[in-house]
This record gives sequence, structure tokens and C-alpha cells, in this order.
Amino acid sequence: MTINRRRFLGTVAAAGAASGLRAQAPQWSSPVIDMHFHMRGTPEANAAHLDGCGVTMANLLTQAGAVDRVRAVQERYPKRFVWYGSTDITKPGAEALLTQTIKNGAGGIGELKSHVEADGPELRRMYALAAELDVPILIHFQEVPHTENEGTFASGFKRFEAILKEYPRTRFFGHADAFWANVSADYANQEAYPSGPIKRGGLTDKLLSDYPNLFADMSANSGNNALSRDPDFTPDFLKRHQDKLVFGSDCGCTDGNGGGVAQANNPAANRLSGKCVARETLSVLQKSTSPALFAKLVWENAHKFLRLPA
Ligand SMILES: [Zn+2]
Ligand SMILES: [Zn+2]
Repeated sequence: MTINRRRFLGTVAAAGAASGLRAQAPQWSSPVIDMHFHMRGTPEANAAHLDGCGVTMANLLTQAGAVDRVRAVQERYPKRFVWYGSTDITKPGAEALLTQTIKNGAGGIGELKSHVEADGPELRRMYALAAELDVPILIHFQEVPHTENEGTFASGFKRFEAILKEYPRTRFFGHADAFWANVSADYANQEAYPSGPIKRGGLTDKLLSDYPNLFADMSANSGNNALSRDPDFTPDFLKRHQDKLVFGSDCGCTDGNGGGVAQANNPAANRLSGKCVARETLSVLQKSTSPALFAKLVWENAHKFLRLPA
């Protein structure tokens, strides 16, 4: 009779899912830290996303000066949240503000997303500052505007090798459209999110191989797209750069299950509309790796970079 009882419970669970009851959080084969999680309005809203998609911890991306709000989240949910600070780097005083943020306990600088060149004076000051403070710095690289007036961010990624040479003590974390589109050697800034097979030997792949100071977060539609577009490419790419990559979502959905708006009304990213980016990317990663490698990418590496106890 135990078999029948088990079968009965299975049927009840399936019926619950089919009738659209709140979907259960997925169980990943390792605890997960989401390294690219923009802080939400209330402590509860932050935890709701993590709980909904089965994520253990998150790195809150905040504006410098948000230290009280960060502490409120950390007090409400102990051991679940660490944080980075960012600011408008085109304004005077950015270095002092970010220095104070690190002194207040932030683990890194970012994400930096400004309408400047990747090798321009504003970002150069930040690269030097990150080295001096000995913290990672997370950059949003984007060459193709998603909407008419959006503009570009940290433009000129094709020239980034010179920066990696010039700032060997800076730990750069790349992210966003241009960073991930350049995994393919045929990318020429023609669109935000290219699809189809990846031409081997792309700039991002090469820089990750050649420069010990370059790392990446796999967040957002950009990261998900790069890992999804060519299943023959992904497992080896993840293996090759296993010491350089961390999981992040950059998801905007409310519940960790695709509710609300996942990718900030970005029309170019509608392949993920109605979905939770964290769930989607964790699924791709789990499918493309061994359990040991998955644990490294979604948990262990981030602990190493943030110098957190494992
Ligand atoms: Zn970004
Ligand atoms: Zn989500």
C-alpha cells in the first residue's frame, strides 16, 4: 500500500502544478549565490526572489550611500546577503564615495554602467581605485542601444585588451551585451543579442584565457543568450574558464518564477519575458556541467572572489 500512497501524493503534486498553484522552488544540486542582484525596495522583496528560484544568497548591487538599507536586509535575513556599491562615475567625488562604501563593508565596486568609453578617463580612475582598494569591479559593456535614446555603456570593448595589460592588479568582471556577444569571433556590434552557432575564437573567450585579471558574471539575457545559443560550445567554454566565471541573474521578476518584468522592459530581451532569468540560467548551467563544476560556478567561485568562508 505504501506504493499506492506514494503514487497518490505524486498525483496530487502534479495536479497542483497543472492548476497553476504557486510553483515550487527548484532544487539545485548546489547552494547558489546570485552575484548580480539589484537591491529591491524592501527586505522581503529581496528574499522573495531568492526563495522563488531556489537561491541561497545574493550579492546586492546598490547605490553608494545605501548602507542603511543594506544593513536592514542583512539583519532581517542573516547570512543571505552581501553587497557591492556603485555611483555615477562621471560626477566629481565618485572615488571618495566608493572608497567609503568599501570601508562600510561592500565587497566590490559595481555595477558601473555609464555612458563613457571603456578606456576613457572616468573608468580608468575606477580601475585604478579597484586595484588600490583590492576589490573586484563589475562593468556593463553595451554597444547597441535597446531603445532609441538609451545610448551605449563602457563602449569600445574591442580595445579592452590594452586595459587588461595596463591594470594587471585590477580584478575586472565583465557583463552585459557586448561582453557576451564577443564570445563569437564574428561579432561586429551588429545587434545586442546575436543568435545561432558561435564562431570559435571570439574576443571574450580569448581574453578570459589570456588575462588572469579578467572574470565574468553570466547574468542577464546577454549571459543566458551566450550560453544557450550553441549547445556544442557551452560545456567546453564553462570548463575552460571554470575559475573565472560566476553565476548572476540580473533578474527583475518579482517572485523568482517569472512574475512581473524580468528584463526591465528591454524589447531586445523578450526571449526571456515571463521567465525568471535566474531559473533559466541555472538550468542551462546545470544541464551543461558536472555537479562539481556547477557548484564551482554558482557557489564556490563567488566565495573565493568575495573572500567569504566556504
Ligand atoms: Zn548591467
Ligand atoms: Zn527572476
